Amino acid sequence: MSSIQIKQIKCPECGGQANSIGLFSSSKKCVYCHTEFVVTGTMEKEMEVPERILPFNTNREDFEKEVLTLFAQEPYAPNDIFDFAAFKDIDGVFLPMYLYEGKYECSWNCSVGYYENEVVASSDGKSVKNKQVLRYRPQSGTTKRDFAIVCAAYEGEEIKPELIEYARALYYDRDAAKSFDEKYLEDYDFVLHNLDKEYTWDKYGINSVKYIAEQDSLEQVPGDTYKDFRCSVSTDEKHKGRLVFLPFWMVYYDYNNEQHYVIMDGTGKSGLTGSTPIDEERVKAVNKWHDLAKYVKWGAWASLIAILWWVWGIPLVAWLAYFSIKFYAKFNENKIIKENKKIRETKLKEILDGGNN
Ligand SMILES: [Zn+2]
Repeated sequence: MSSIQIKQIKCPECGGQANSIGLFSSSKKCVYCHTEFVVTGTMEKEMEVPERILPFNTNREDFEKEVLTLFAQEPYAPNDIFDFAAFKDIDGVFLPMYLYEGKYECSWNCSVGYYENEVVASSDGKSVKNKQVLRYRPQSGTTKRDFAIVCAAYEGEEIKPELIEYARALYYDRDAAKSFDEKYLEDYDFVLHNLDKEYTWDKYGINSVKYIAEQDSLEQVPGDTYKDFRCSVSTDEKHKGRLVFLPFWMVYYDYNNEQHYVIMDGTGKSGLTGSTPIDEERVKAVNKWHDLAKYVKWGAWASLIAILWWVWGIPLVAWLAYFSIKFYAKFNENKIIKENKKIRETKLKEILDGGNN
């Protein structure tokens, strides 16, 4: 295990650490609380060298464009979102993760259900008909496969839980991984790991592998349906765990005092995750007609019951009313979403065109 010298500063506001390969500029914006502060005491630190690193394949502008496009596409995003959401605080950060590779073996058993045709005689015995019945039979099997999973090697306040959650589900692209070189860290923040390999495997790794093994095994289950699925998973000893650095873009922004975020995998292979504010007025305008349709539908059901002892007229009118209002509600929904999307798409176009000039 080799190590390199890095520089570290602490945010006076939240205590969050910032790490750098080179010198810090005289003032720094905290990645975690976004306080701008003057850099005073810089500490020298030893960092364990990661075995592999996935370099950034996208730049700040790519990420910004993806986020703006998300704002334009989201059906219920407010139309003034571009004016409110500030993008000065985009951060590119490397997260320390453990890569576990190996083989798993999964033994499973369950009851598999098959729909079968059965010929039954009518009660008077004069005719026969086909009837579908569901029959269960026991089934077992084994699944063996290679796995490669990554788990965050950090636990604590400085990485937001949503980022760790997103990173967990990430596919590790073995071919894109490079041997570690300091040059990949230039201009980016990075976080030092604080968990050991065994702890991370026991707490997160084994569960991820169990989940993958279960999903793979379920794909092998034959028949039309199943119940009482059970499986036991074992792994070989190859999974020891290697420290790797994975790149992420993230931005946290405020909209009317609500905190929102967007995260993207820095290699650009996985999609965005995050939250956008909702225009409640638009939601109401859309739901108004859907709600009315719902009430009329209840009325229509109630009046249908009236047929039993009354006339056809009222139920017919009620059902016609329901279908017309439901149709209009859907039309209204599409119209509102389309109109508002257009407003944001025009703004997005202006922003993107403006950026190119
Ligand atoms: Zn801070």
